[in-house]
Amino acid sequence: MKILVLGGAGYIGSHTVYRLIEQGYKVVVFDNFETGYYEAIHPDAEVYEGDLRNRADIDNVFDEESDIDAVIHFAANSLVGESMVKPLKYYDNNICGTKVLLESMVAHNINRIVFSSTAATYGEPIHTPILENDPTNPTNCYGETKRAMERMFYWTEQAHGMKYVSLRYFNACGAHISGKIGEAHNPESHLIPIILQTANGTRDHISVFGTDYDTPDGTCIRDYIHVTDLAQAHILAVEYLINGGESDIFNLGNGVGFSVKEVIETAKKVTGKEIKVVEENRRAGDPAVLIASSEKAKKVLGWNPQYNELSTIIETAWKWHSTHPNGYKSN
Ligand code: UDP
Repeated sequence: MKILVLGGAGYIGSHTVYRLIEQGYKVVVFDNFETGYYEAIHPDAEVYEGDLRNRADIDNVFDEESDIDAVIHFAANSLVGESMVKPLKYYDNNICGTKVLLESMVAHNINRIVFSSTAATYGEPIHTPILENDPTNPTNCYGETKRAMERMFYWTEQAHGMKYVSLRYFNACGAHISGKIGEAHNPESHLIPIILQTANGTRDHISVFGTDYDTPDGTCIRDYIHVTDLAQAHILAVEYLINGGESDIFNLGNGVGFSVKEVIETAKKVTGKEIKVVEENRRAGDPAVLIASSEKAKKVLGWNPQYNELSTIIETAWKWHSTHPNGYKSN
């Protein structure tokens, strides 16, 4: 079985590539290396450098690799804060890139895709935990583009019969158990890497964005889910489609929320380091609480997340950050 992973040099993509190869799949990676790293790619994967917005780049992959069974699509910009100041970058890369991809897939008769979506498609939840059929009113441009991409899959299925699974994840975190690959964004904007970069001395402090939210300690609550559990969900979704499953949308989270302050306290315990905290204003576009119901993914896909404890998740992330203080540059 051969799987094309778009964005396979990125954080969740690279962990999915490892997991696929560990489970005996042949893997082809396509990435523009704008935010991904060669060092993150498993040595057994076939690699193509290209940009989804260039039809010839993606056509070339399908022409060369004629026996691709399914596509997993991670190739997108994914920073909430950046999307608020550079919305057109997100429309261009995320939406235009996906349009070109789908044109190429239709032309090459590739009809299964698993898509990396996000909790940001929901916006402010109407209740907790969030269910898949809850309303989607994104409060940031990133979530808006991911929602538009989901609708693109829906209409492409109606016209061309392409089957899709969209996985709406909550807060991806942690690192491969080996410590060989992990989370490395440049610049880094995610909570756990920034906390651990403070612990490893790369940064002076962690800024807490907003302490006046309507939550018990005033800081935002998020549902943190280990990247390897997310990777496994993508593989289960591929298998579901190959076995004739219908197109569908699934939440992926732990069903438990932790506040920013709780995450910092857990990281202090795991690392044994002092972590300096500076309280700042809210960040634009952040809902107060995001917690998933993943019952549907468990029931339909048979997903069974292994990393349930925040401390275990942070331990795996610390294994990576303490040995790679400068991310992949330190290799
Ligand atoms: N956050 C923070 N300081 C940081 C980065 C993030 O207080 O330096 C907060 C952010 O406001 C949000 C939570 O941590 O409430 C998780 O943010 P992250 O960017 O990791 O993921 P997101 O929820 O945006 O997907």
